[in-house]
Amino acid sequence: MPELPEVETIVRSLRPFVPGRTVLTVDVRRADLRRALQPCFASTLSGRRVDAIRRRAKYMLFDLDDGRSWIVHLGMSGRFLRVETASNHETRKHDHVIVTLDDGAGLVFHDPRRFGLMAIDDSSSSPLLSGIGPEPLGDDFQPSYLADLRRRTRRTIKDVLMDQRVVAGLGNIYVNEALFAAGVRPRRKLSSMTSEECARVVRATREILKEAIEHRGSSISDFLDGVGRRGAYQWRRRVYDREGEPCPLCTTAIKVVTVGQRSSFYCPRCQR
Ligand SMILES: [Zn+2]
Repeated sequence: MPELPEVETIVRSLRPFVPGRTVLTVDVRRADLRRALQPCFASTLSGRRVDAIRRRAKYMLFDLDDGRSWIVHLGMSGRFLRVETASNHETRKHDHVIVTLDDGAGLVFHDPRRFGLMAIDDSSSSPLLSGIGPEPLGDDFQPSYLADLRRRTRRTIKDVLMDQRVVAGLGNIYVNEALFAAGVRPRRKLSSMTSEECARVVRATREILKEAIEHRGSSISDFLDGVGRRGAYQWRRRVYDREGEPCPLCTTAIKVVTVGQRSSFYCPRCQR
């Protein structure tokens, strides 16, 4: 599932090509994504110029010249790929939406499991984006923010970090990696953590995300960026999906536990 670094990587890969281009046609082949596309989706997007591309949480936002945004979420298995020449693109199974631009390029939304979604909306008032917590790489995600939450929840640190209302864009891979880097076990209750541990988790989260963006995300299953390149962070992960392998710091075998129905990987010696 694409997390913040993968979505950021797609946005950055498209940024040299898409802003300034106008949408010529919108071919909706399947409208029944996680939620149905708006009936006016294609007619609203057609003729609009894309002025900018940005990311909020795990959403891509294509800001349009009428003030609204084309909002895209990749769900579990979505891909968003630019093809140089739309007319040469051979449509594959699971290509659900194909947009052509005025330079002849195409933007293809491909999603076998159809957990992704798209909408045209005002990004400042869209229900899709309201209630999402601060960006982890922004100024609002500080040690004091996490420390202040201790009194208000009995949840584990893993569950807290996975909650999009608490902090935006994190998923299983990067939460596991961040908790390893911070030396905190995924099952620790946030309320039991010291201020120093909260600070370490915040710092580690930011560092892991920056490192993952630098390496253009993780292609553990089948992630590709917006121009079809694989990411390279999968070669750097320390604990995620490494059950039984030696910890890179102390060589103890990595363990796995289930937290919130997701596998959590940790080093029993380095993490407390
Ligand atoms: Zn270790």
